[in-house]
Amino acid sequence: MARLDCDVLVVGSGPGGAMTSTLLSEAGFDVLMVEEGRHHSVDSSKSYTLEEMNQKYRNGGLTSTLGNVNVTYIEGKCVGGASEINAALYHRPLAETLETWRRDFQIDDFEVQDLMDQFETIEGELGVSTRPMGESPASQLFARGAETLGWKSREIQRFWKYSKTPEGGWRSRRQSMTETLIPRSLAAGTRLETGVRVHRIHFQGEHALYAEAERTTEDGRKQRLRIGFNKLFVCAGAVQTPLVLRRSGVTHGVGDTLQMHPMIRFAARFPEPMNDPTWGVPVHQVEQFKPAITLGCSHSSIPHVAMWMNRLVPDKVARLEEWPHLGVFYVAVAGKGMGKVRPLPVFKHPLVRHPVLPEDLNLLGEGLSRLAELVFAAGATEVYSPFEHGETITHPSAWDDLPQTLPSDQISVSTIHLFSSLPMGEDLARCTVDSHGKLHSKSNVWIQDASVLPTSPGVNPQGTILTLVRRNVQRFIDQHTG
Ligand SMILES: Cc1cc2nc3c(=O)[nH]c(=O)nc-3n(C[C@H](O)[C@H](O)[C@H](O)COP(=O)(O)OP(=O)(O)OC[C@H]3O[C@@H](n4cnc5c(N)ncnc54)[C@H](O)[C@@H]3O)c2cc1C
Repeated sequence: MARLDCDVLVVGSGPGGAMTSTLLSEAGFDVLMVEEGRHHSVDSSKSYTLEEMNQKYRNGGLTSTLGNVNVTYIEGKCVGGASEINAALYHRPLAETLETWRRDFQIDDFEVQDLMDQFETIEGELGVSTRPMGESPASQLFARGAETLGWKSREIQRFWKYSKTPEGGWRSRRQSMTETLIPRSLAAGTRLETGVRVHRIHFQGEHALYAEAERTTEDGRKQRLRIGFNKLFVCAGAVQTPLVLRRSGVTHGVGDTLQMHPMIRFAARFPEPMNDPTWGVPVHQVEQFKPAITLGCSHSSIPHVAMWMNRLVPDKVARLEEWPHLGVFYVAVAGKGMGKVRPLPVFKHPLVRHPVLPEDLNLLGEGLSRLAELVFAAGATEVYSPFEHGETITHPSAWDDLPQTLPSDQISVSTIHLFSSLPMGEDLARCTVDSHGKLHSKSNVWIQDASVLPTSPGVNPQGTILTLVRRNVQRFIDQHTG
């Protein structure tokens, strides 16, 4: 077995791990960051393609929860984690959400104003912006629909950078971790080992001693590794972090409260062309019903439109000939259901059980009926039912009664936002890690990723993850440096 040693081991290089390793290395710690996936540049594959899924998604994107409704979910597996494959939409959560977390989970030193200062720093350091060239045709239609109904909506800022080309056009680039924090972290001295999956941590009492891992070389050879450290930061994401801990015998309150934003999409047809691929992902959302319900425009390439249209194949093929007239739209809700992450004997991947509660289904139904109202107000002529065997609708009243009658056995629910599998705070009945991410039950293990969000933030979560991790790691540095 090969050996690696360090003062601080960081497992995972997504937003949580990238922020952790950057701050620790810049503060002078000897940091080794290990990442199961490979290091690719942000533009090494085209977004939303099979090539990208093979390169950067865990299991090529084929992952699902089990429950009353099976929810397909996506995790990144590459340097930078899901920040490399996401739409990079950026939000601050509502102040009320932060205040509720502070009160209900008894989080120390969690003042809204201090957190807002952290958000501002993140916005400056990583760069968030709206599109200087204006909104895409799909976003403009969406905004028009919201305005007709008197609902508040806006273009969402993104972690994105724009610059002018010599010809007067625009060049744009996602500000993922490989574009921002990973280079900063490496420049500050972080050693990065890719293709390394941590299987389990070995403990002596409350103290973590070393990690057992496996390195897979580019040509597929496997090598076992033992990684020694003094302090351990697990930043493997909301599903993989509890998996590693449970495999290591740390089970109390671990992976029992996984939450998500369940999402349903549908495609709609407009008389005028509105789907122009040169504009990328439309980034407009309805603010009116947040944080419970978010309505938005989605990526609408031909394969995506085909996926979210109803399943009558000949009909679908005929309609896809009119692709520029078709767009995909989504409803996402702040789910209250709590799932469990459990390791399985023999299998590398966990069993994730998650209930979509009746109240979450009601919200999804309400969201769908509002979304239909919006796209018809924006001029849509047809909405393709997302339900198995559902009829195409031509008027929003067809879905008036959906909140009560959503056919939960005939819907495709998916999610890209997972969190809260190890909530932070001092309430020992609810919190697995303390107010700054240290495992309550261990002396030298910290969790710094989506797992520590107490509950659903009700907005795209990456900004909140970066902010909480920044705050927590700064506290660690204050406590462990002279
Ligand atoms: C398709 C998609 C679109 C999204 N869009 C947005 C958006 O627009 N805005 C937004 O705010 N959020 C978005 N999100 C969510 C956001 O990307 C995630 O919330 C965020 O990346 C989570 O950060 P993390 O550090 O917790 O974990 P991750 O990003 O999941 O990173 C964890 C890393 O750890 C590695 N790892 C896991 N297990 C191990 C192990 N045992 N050993 C070594 N390495 C390991 C993984 O390979 C991964 O690279 C999106 C997510 C997806 C998938």
